[in-house]
Amino acid sequence: MTDSIVLLGSTGSIGTQTLDVCRALGLRVSALAAGGNIGLLERQATEFHPELVAVYDENAARALETRLRGSGVRVLSGEAGVLEAARLDCGTIVNAVSGSAGLAPTLEAARLGRRIALANKESLVVAGERVMALARESGAEIIPVDSEHSAIFQCLQGARGNKIKKLILTASGGPFYGKTRKETLLKMRNATPETALAHPNWSMGAKISVDSATMMNKGLELIEAMRLFDLRADEIEVLIHRQSIVHSAVEFEDGAVIAQLGAPDMRLPIQYALTYPQRLPGAAPPLDLAAAGALTFEKPDLDAFPCLALAYETAGRGDHACRVLCEADERAVSMFLAGEIGFFDICEYVKAALANI
Ligand code: NDP
Ligand code: MG
Repeated sequence: MTDSIVLLGSTGSIGTQTLDVCRALGLRVSALAAGGNIGLLERQATEFHPELVAVYDENAARALETRLRGSGVRVLSGEAGVLEAARLDCGTIVNAVSGSAGLAPTLEAARLGRRIALANKESLVVAGERVMALARESGAEIIPVDSEHSAIFQCLQGARGNKIKKLILTASGGPFYGKTRKETLLKMRNATPETALAHPNWSMGAKISVDSATMMNKGLELIEAMRLFDLRADEIEVLIHRQSIVHSAVEFEDGAVIAQLGAPDMRLPIQYALTYPQRLPGAAPPLDLAAAGALTFEKPDLDAFPCLALAYETAGRGDHACRVLCEADERAVSMFLAGEIGFFDICEYVKAALANI
């Protein structure tokens, strides 16, 4: 188990839940980094007394430096500052930055042979082949935080080297999932940033919430799983599981399927990444299976969720194509959130970007 962490993206959904885990386990926080939310960073720095705090936005960093003067906390700025935080020696670096901005710190930590608790799935989508090769060379350990990948990682602890036949990656289906294709498409036609952000089971940052509504999130997770577990896309099946209780499963050669179940609470996979290979009481609530009731599984409708189909088509094409998919999606989601394009345009935008390579 780790005794200290460096936390990148500390002000976000995963970042704040990671600090809940640190409070529950009494872990030391050596460094914090975020984009620009210095109000929250100041409170976090005051509570956790890290050696350094890095703020990507230079003006925000200057303002935070003034506020923290005399506290003994070093304040760094810009991408260079975030990278210096990533280089700090620690038990585990938690990368909870959103989007492809998370890649550079992942590469840095992988190069240095660190243990990385990786929430930033984009790192493994835009440059997964490179990240995994660097980690193999340096001996860096990458422990997934994404709930599906943490589930698979947990299932594999009992595999004793046996070959995986396939992975079952579960998906909630997001806020627009309907009983029929017609109902789904109708909900999507009326989609606004507000309705796209209202996820039924999880409270997450804006980008991943919209990705869940288009199911591009599952597409990115497909590529993430290929890189982490060294599998092909056709060895990974996506199933809709509306209740988000079965977080994913592994099928072995003999037909046995081992799954990990839990309450839909990210603090459990975050904590496992920090206590691995141990398990400790912590911040997440226990699972009440009787209260959860029926658990259902169905195949996704790729016509209603073309982003998932696009990810399946792109997944086998290597880092460059996956990077185009991921970065185009990031731009499209931010345009959708700014009200500049409609919900269906997100997929069209990504499709057009892929057509150009
Ligand atoms: P949020 O949008 O809630 O938080 C993003 C964090 O990244 C914030 O702390 C933000 O700082 C920081 N940040 C943004 N840009 C930079 C930058 N250039 N340098 C340093 N910090 C930066 O996102 P989430 O917590 O939801 O997601 C984080 C990652 O985890 C994503 O890759 C997502 O896919 C993944 N993930 C999230 C899950 C969830 O439940 N939320 C589940 C599984 C995976 P600031 O706010 O100050 O701008
Ligand atoms: Mg996930």
